[in-house]
Amino acid sequence: MMLSVCPICDEVAKAAHDRDGDGMRFNCDACGDFGISEASAFSMHRYASELRRSFLRAAAHRAEPGSVPVITHID
Ligand SMILES: [Zn+2]
Repeated sequence: MMLSVCPICDEVAKAAHDRDGDGMRFNCDACGDFGISEASAFSMHRYASELRRSFLRAAAHRAEPGSVPVITHID
């Protein structure tokens, strides 16, 4: 784990490269545990914070119960 900036809320969060995919895993005090693809993380800054949180909510809705939500695409 390393410290990075949460792509959802712009606060400091723990981050790690996702061993299973091309993206990152974040552990944020405000946003919880989630994964995000590299492309989505790169695009996230274009969106307002409320929209970013809605991407995370949508990912959480798609995730299997008990698994970590992963933001795979946001366009
Ligand atoms: Zn956050």
